[in-house]
Amino acid sequence: MCGIFGAYSASGAPVLEDVYLGLFALQHRGQLSAGVAWTQDGSVHIKKGPGLVHDALQQDELEKIKAHAAIGHVRYATAGGTRPENSQPLGANYAQGPVAIAHNGNLTNAVAISSYLANRGAIFQTTCDTETIIQLMAHQPNTVQLEAFENALSRISGAYSLILLLEDCLIAARDPWGFRPLVLGKKEETYYIASESCAFDIIGAELLRDVEPGEILIIDRRGVISRRFGKQQPRLRHCAFEYVYFARPDSVIDGRSVYRARKELGACLARGMECPKDCVVSGMPDSGTLAALGLAEEAEVPFEAGVVRNRYVGRTFIQPTQRVREAGVRIKLNPQPGIFNGKEAVIVDDSIVRGTTAGRTVSTIRSAGAKKVHMCIASPPVRYPCYYGIDTPSSDELIAAQTDIESLCGDIGADSLRYISCSELCSAIGLPHDQLCTACFDGDYLDDEENGCSLEV
Ligand code: AMP
Repeated sequence: MCGIFGAYSASGAPVLEDVYLGLFALQHRGQLSAGVAWTQDGSVHIKKGPGLVHDALQQDELEKIKAHAAIGHVRYATAGGTRPENSQPLGANYAQGPVAIAHNGNLTNAVAISSYLANRGAIFQTTCDTETIIQLMAHQPNTVQLEAFENALSRISGAYSLILLLEDCLIAARDPWGFRPLVLGKKEETYYIASESCAFDIIGAELLRDVEPGEILIIDRRGVISRRFGKQQPRLRHCAFEYVYFARPDSVIDGRSVYRARKELGACLARGMECPKDCVVSGMPDSGTLAALGLAEEAEVPFEAGVVRNRYVGRTFIQPTQRVREAGVRIKLNPQPGIFNGKEAVIVDDSIVRGTTAGRTVSTIRSAGAKKVHMCIASPPVRYPCYYGIDTPSSDELIAAQTDIESLCGDIGADSLRYISCSELCSAIGLPHDQLCTACFDGDYLDDEENGCSLEV
């Protein structure tokens, strides 16, 4: 999972500070590295580094660069691993001019494309799937860049929300299934593209609309031109997990408020559930809080901010080893003294992946005096790996893939464990099932026909 941001000012106003701020608002989408790219005097320039936006980039330096078009990226490693050379944007100056690219998603045929191109002389600088797009463009040295990019798109498959920077033009493209979010915004004479609408709020830009699945937007001094690419897909596949966990709740994705979806996920949990009279509902901060609020409102039982989060610890899951991950959970969350004493605790979290967090949570809440601990999960069981840009582990590490719900409840030490169904998930989000990707819950991946594309350049 990554965050991408781009800006083009038709009036020539400098935009790099906006890009910095946009990336700042998208920090939750990736903490491994951050970078920006712009073009000047006919070539591409890139600044990037490891860590959070404010560690990787110097705001005061960027503010002095007078580029009127730029792109940026925050990275959370999926394809290509954690190597520093894989941080984005990636850039090149090739026969047709400068190009820089920022990508969110995962290409499912990158290995086949890389070996096809390597056999024809391509020298790859990274192990990142995104580089295949630039290489596909550079392997068409006599084709103008926009056309070469469109040809490249017809060869790739999987999940991609892309922002491309050419010498005096910003391009956005979203795969025909719409896996990852991508939105268009505007402030005065400047157009913006971002992974999530929350990045527009920080710079005072207005959200115009989502980039549509299978759409390319070409932004230059004349304004915005929209084109379609790829074959129309029989169904869309907007990622349901964005609403469950990844996106910020103040974002609106594909016309649906993430905040409303999360509260509704909690309300779904409450329906058909008997909440004990002396119960207290709490969410695991921050990812379970809104669903807990929705559950408490629907069930008309008290909500308490019963678990306190140390806000200086990053997302637990992102730590690289199991040992550090376990320590991370303990460091990060602490129960409020006195809140759970003698009560039945209804604890809401967004998902269970490896099960480390849920197990620790139950024992922590019990040691805070709870009589019983009922775990409520605001999504269906995660049983399948994601191949479209979320770093879910393989099935043998996914605890819900290894055991049934009753045994899982015992494994995490809870008195009860409740999930929602896939159809409840879709109705909480407010989109029909045939517009959502629920592959991590039900294994419904792209089939061969949807995937089909040819390698010949
Ligand atoms: P665990 O079950 O201990 O592996 O962690 C589950 C918690 O990690 C969930 O409650 C989420 O808050 C968070 N989480 C779920 N999926 C991801 C992901 N792909 N990347 C980072 N964090 C995640």
